[in-house]
Amino acid sequence: MHNSSGFTYNRTAMTDQQFIYLDNNATTPLDSAVIEEMLPFLTTFYGNPSSGYAFGAQARKAVGLARERLAALLGCEPSEIVFTSGGTESNNAVIHSALEFAPLGKHVIASAVEHSAVLRPCQDVEKRCCSVTFLGVNRDGNVDLAEFEAAIRPETALVSMMWANNETGVLFPVEKIAEICRRKGVLFHTDAVQALGKIPIRLRDTAVDFLSLSAHKFHGPKGVGALYVNRRTRLSPLIAGGGQENARRGGTENVAGIVGLGKAAELAAKYLAEGNCSVRSMRDRFEKAILESVSGASVNGAGAPRIPNTSSLSFEGIESSAVLLLLDRQGICCSAGSACRTGSQEASHVLRAMNPNGDGARRSLRFSFSRFNTEAEIDRAVEIVPKVIEKLRQTAAPMQRGGFSPVAMALPGAP
Ligand SMILES: *Cc1c(COP(=O)(O)O)cnc(C)c1O
Repeated sequence: MHNSSGFTYNRTAMTDQQFIYLDNNATTPLDSAVIEEMLPFLTTFYGNPSSGYAFGAQARKAVGLARERLAALLGCEPSEIVFTSGGTESNNAVIHSALEFAPLGKHVIASAVEHSAVLRPCQDVEKRCCSVTFLGVNRDGNVDLAEFEAAIRPETALVSMMWANNETGVLFPVEKIAEICRRKGVLFHTDAVQALGKIPIRLRDTAVDFLSLSAHKFHGPKGVGALYVNRRTRLSPLIAGGGQENARRGGTENVAGIVGLGKAAELAAKYLAEGNCSVRSMRDRFEKAILESVSGASVNGAGAPRIPNTSSLSFEGIESSAVLLLLDRQGICCSAGSACRTGSQEASHVLRAMNPNGDGARRSLRFSFSRFNTEAEIDRAVEIVPKVIEKLRQTAAPMQRGGFSPVAMALPGAP
């Protein structure tokens, strides 16, 4: 099954260019072992898994193995997994299905800090047919369980709460929320895109009905993901077509992508069993160093449990967009929040929900690490970030009196 196309993933080339990738919650580099595993399915074994002859069976077997590997990582049965095009599709499928089957009425509860791949479909159904409660969070980014339970109504069809927040890394008490939902007879979905591979998950010990995940957030390929559907729970397909995925998701399988997802899941299980030590220690070292060397810096979600790879930091007296620009010039990739598109002035809805009266949302940066980061990269980031913040604070002070944009003014004199 080995393919010698000559293409190998070269991580060193990236570091040689002084390029430091600290935005692993946006996407992650592919593991070279994942590519190796995928290549034969882009070349030799191009059969359709649904075909009856032996050549199709090769692809079918590979999809089956990927399903087993993912089930092992999730602690569930292979039959409970539906492959999709990614986290966004999985989330949409759940919301669609839950409302399709809603027996009484139509009400959905989601947290106010969900990813746009949950928020947007919720806002869409809110316009069409149903009411939605967006549950607020406290200053640490966590939900209050009593407040949550009180929001459940007799007509509530679905609760959707993310396992780990993509901006702050804060972990919701998803197992407890799922228990409450089961007790009340309400379907429970969790967007676990940021939790998978970062914390141990054993779905058979939980009351979770649906779980969404995405391969490119754990060193697999983009455009492929999965939805876990508990065997006692029905799913009405969002994408109707052929009978693929046990008639739960139509369309010819993305065989190479699914194979890559399976391999990435196997690797994630291995690193998880080893405790994800390097990622956590790099994150902790980075965070500690920044807090020590930059005055007026604080950790968003510091008082809540967090995934080991994320550091969301707030800095007094700066604008995140200006810091991002200068860090980019130094070859450091990080982000201001998930929805920060270039030129967008919209501050993070997550940080605003945590502190509605503060301006932390405009002053925050997210650094997210992976097992492909090196201690040398952390050293360099720890050196550059404080310099950039200091530089901006110096330029911002006289400019605020002059009324110019700190971003525009900072550009010519960038360090
Ligand atoms: C990235 C992300 C998604 C979207 O997944 P895609 O596979 O890119 O569609 C959904 N939810 C969270 C929390 C994410 O971080």
